[in-house]
Amino acid sequence: MSEQANSSTNQNLRTPIVAVLGHVDHGKTSLLDKIRGSTVIEGEAGAITQHIGATAVPLDVVSQVAGGLVDPTEFDLPGLLFIDTPGHHSFTTLRARGGALADIAILVVDVNDGFQPQTEEAIRILKETGTPFVVAANKIDTVPGWNPQEDAPVQQTYEAQSDRVRQSLDEELYRIIGNLSDEGFSSDLYWRVQDFRANIGVIPVSAKTGEGVPDLLTVLMGLAQRYMKEDMEINLAGPGAGTVLEVKEEQGYGTTIDVILYDGTIRPGDTVVVGGGNDTIVTEVRALLKPKALAEMRAEKRFEQVDELRAASGVKIAAPDLDDAMAGAPVRVVGDRDVDDVIEEVEAELASAQVETEEEGVVVKADTLGSLEAMANALEAAEIPVMRAEVGDIAPRDIAVATTVNDESHRAILGFNVDVYPDAEQRAEEKGVHLFTNDVIYQLVDDYDTFVEEREREQREAVFDNIMRPARFQILQDHVFRQNDPAVVGVEVLSGTLKRNTPVGVFEGNDIRRVGTVKGIQDQGEDVDEVRAGERVSVSIDGPTIGRDVDEGDELWVDLPEKHAKVLEQELLEEIPMDEREALHMFLETHRKRDPFWGK
Ligand code: GDP
Repeated sequence: MSEQANSSTNQNLRTPIVAVLGHVDHGKTSLLDKIRGSTVIEGEAGAITQHIGATAVPLDVVSQVAGGLVDPTEFDLPGLLFIDTPGHHSFTTLRARGGALADIAILVVDVNDGFQPQTEEAIRILKETGTPFVVAANKIDTVPGWNPQEDAPVQQTYEAQSDRVRQSLDEELYRIIGNLSDEGFSSDLYWRVQDFRANIGVIPVSAKTGEGVPDLLTVLMGLAQRYMKEDMEINLAGPGAGTVLEVKEEQGYGTTIDVILYDGTIRPGDTVVVGGGNDTIVTEVRALLKPKALAEMRAEKRFEQVDELRAASGVKIAAPDLDDAMAGAPVRVVGDRDVDDVIEEVEAELASAQVETEEEGVVVKADTLGSLEAMANALEAAEIPVMRAEVGDIAPRDIAVATTVNDESHRAILGFNVDVYPDAEQRAEEKGVHLFTNDVIYQLVDDYDTFVEEREREQREAVFDNIMRPARFQILQDHVFRQNDPAVVGVEVLSGTLKRNTPVGVFEGNDIRRVGTVKGIQDQGEDVDEVRAGERVSVSIDGPTIGRDVDEGDELWVDLPEKHAKVLEQELLEEIPMDEREALHMFLETHRKRDPFWGK
């Protein structure tokens, strides 16, 4: 038997695919569990069916859960297929066919917690893929004083609350509406929304008590029926097309792929083309597997085989040669087409997901093609060049790639939602490759940016420490304590900071004549390393004889090498004090009267 909810209604209308997204702990899993659990027991006619990676809720069940809200005779779509997003694989569900695998999404937001990094990330991806969505404002039962109404529609539950509770909830809901507005989405409480294409509907729900779940299903069903019916008209009997959700080792079957089928039909024996990490895979379906009904779970086998499957559904495909298959990659049944045409089609789709790489840049790893693409977009926006981008965990091979860059700051691997092999971690440390991992894209980008800034700052400081600084000082009248070897004189620093061991000279015309090196500085009998503008100290200068090479009253300059003057003017100007800047400008101006390109 084909285990579709589809067949009962219209042969050529497939079930819309729904993705559930949101920040960790905001209730995605609970909401799916609620939708699954609140309904007819599996096995009964028209009941919910558990797919691999998805749950199908047929129209009858939607109608039953929604109570009076949905009249099944007004609908001809067969129901809804919810993708059970494993962990954080959600971006996979948002990419396929150059757009999104999901036809519609639920963005789950905890009313207490509001928008969080993964909420914003999900919104960005929804925006990029143009996926329509509704917001489930979850955990309304946690509003203090809440009077729970198990599985009731929103209106009924609202009426059961006190004014104060209702007001608190409204405040939370309007905060979410405000957040959506900040992201450029106009939204409102769903019962006020006339056109769901123009406004995002916000639905208060509790995944714990089931309140609002009838409304959520009603809105989803209504949205799909009203705006997506045309997209759902497919040739269900045609060759199957889908997207890999996960690649998994399965005892007795080897490497298998969990696939969401969004078009056509697939059968055991079909030749399929699957996107791979290196080469496109052409293989033959050995078995189509679905989870065993709950009651039979204790049996040693977790799966049972099906002999045909139609879109939309989730299925595990067992076939040879799937080791290199990629999460997020396309799967196509060849059918009566030329296999080369299908290969071309799959490769074209993969190419569209290909990340633009450059000769020099960071290495990027992600858990699925979809997330890799999302990473690439974020990195492009942040102007971070990418040298290599691949699906998979961080392996020693990646470290080797990262060490080939010239720019130290590109010696980095950014991993989204991936693991790091222990030997890769060790290798990275040995080779000085910086590893960044996170399950929020923009935090990864942020962490990397911070690292680069920190490095640049350190480099600037290192340069700064080694750079000679401008200063101008005057030998005071009647303050010659020693003529030469070394000369010891009283001076006043006119601008800048005079340091020990700096060469000094006097300007003759527009050229500086080196007279010697400041060896020591004494301030009231104490040796000091440096002295600021405005202060009077005695200095010892190696080289000159006072009265012959220099005189009392003469103005001396630190004889800045041209290179140092250039770095100061071009890179460090902001970091030096005003009086030093003034000394630098005077110094450069004098030199440039002679040679306009001096220090440029
Ligand atoms: P996910 O990470 O988004 O899948 O979040 P979970 O579904 O795992 O939920 C995270 C936590 O919040 C769990 O402890 C849930 O029991 C709790 N939770 C989820 N939804 C609700 C809700 O509507 N009300 C309350 N009180 N708790 C909830």
